[in-house]
Amino acid sequence: MTTVDHLRQVRLGNLRTVLLALVDRPGSRADLAARTGLTKATLSNLTEPLLANGILVEEPATLAGLGRPSKPLRFHPGGPVAVGAEINVSHLAVEILGLDGETIRRHLVPADIRKASADDVLDRVAGLIREITGDRPLLGAGLAVPGVVHDGVVVRAPNLPHLVGVPLADGLSRRLALDVELDNEANLAALAHLWPRHLAGEDFVHVSADVGIGAGVVLNGEVYRGVSGFAGELGHVVIERDGVRCTCGSRGCVERYAGLDVILRQAGRRRLDSLHKALAAQDERALTSVRQAGQALGVGLATLMNLFDVPTVVLGGSYAVLHEHLSVAVQSEMDRRVLAGGERHTRLIASPLGEFAVVRGAAGLITRRAVQQPERLFAQPPRPDRP
Ligand SMILES: [Zn+2]
Repeated sequence: MTTVDHLRQVRLGNLRTVLLALVDRPGSRADLAARTGLTKATLSNLTEPLLANGILVEEPATLAGLGRPSKPLRFHPGGPVAVGAEINVSHLAVEILGLDGETIRRHLVPADIRKASADDVLDRVAGLIREITGDRPLLGAGLAVPGVVHDGVVVRAPNLPHLVGVPLADGLSRRLALDVELDNEANLAALAHLWPRHLAGEDFVHVSADVGIGAGVVLNGEVYRGVSGFAGELGHVVIERDGVRCTCGSRGCVERYAGLDVILRQAGRRRLDSLHKALAAQDERALTSVRQAGQALGVGLATLMNLFDVPTVVLGGSYAVLHEHLSVAVQSEMDRRVLAGGERHTRLIASPLGEFAVVRGAAGLITRRAVQQPERLFAQPPRPDRP
């Protein structure tokens, strides 16, 4: 490496440090220097191009105590943003996320994707994105699908088989003239609990139920994907060797006992909100259905925790809605089956992100990369209103 290359790497590393501190919270140069360990001179040097390019903005001076007035730096409210988009079996969702982690706009529309062609789906996603982006410069888009993704292509999607092998990222990228990154919805829902805010530490499994069960395993602050993208298929962990036949060809998979469709059927309900009301009214059939699902899920999660030694389980999506009734059975199975569970303090929490976790993760995939690779921030086309 030449000296010039080396200096460039150091500078990018320092830029990353400053940006990460600002994602945490705004701060004056002096405050940022204290938080990052960089000198004030270095900080001024680093922030100058960020200010000049409309990525940061300096707020008016505020008098703090007797010292010199401090001018906090923060991400520019008109600066570059990322798009998150989700193709789900029964809905489409989009979100615009700022570099500071604030949701700017988001939108979810019911849609039966099983009956729509891939072109049709991409046209609709592109339309939704155009509606909410306005004229903010875009860093790129993350696109979530309910399927296993390998090398940017869906390789398995039991509930949307017509999307397998379709170049979805390229298709959306062409429609919007934007970089698009394709990923699995369960991985992105997990990422949303890691970035831009740590909602469950650096090691956890996020599990949610839709038609299938999706799980994202986070180890050392990174989503663990496995060699081919198949990691985290908790729904197909076998809990009964000769049990109920599964869509995957195996028998006794967790999904056949704790999937949302199974829970609803056993409870005699057609929709999640109706089940939720039945639980609140102490309906015996609903309580039994959720308890049995919780037991099955707990057995599967205990296996996962014994393999990976993660301390925390986040119940997301419809599981978060059922958390109050589901978690008792899940926790009880985990306590019985996780080795030394008592000493390890396994923790079960409900996701605070609701139905937008997946799109937030999809957008977060893009803002996180921009902060980790700050050179990407300077490749943006200039904003139209900037002289
Ligand atoms: Zn299965």
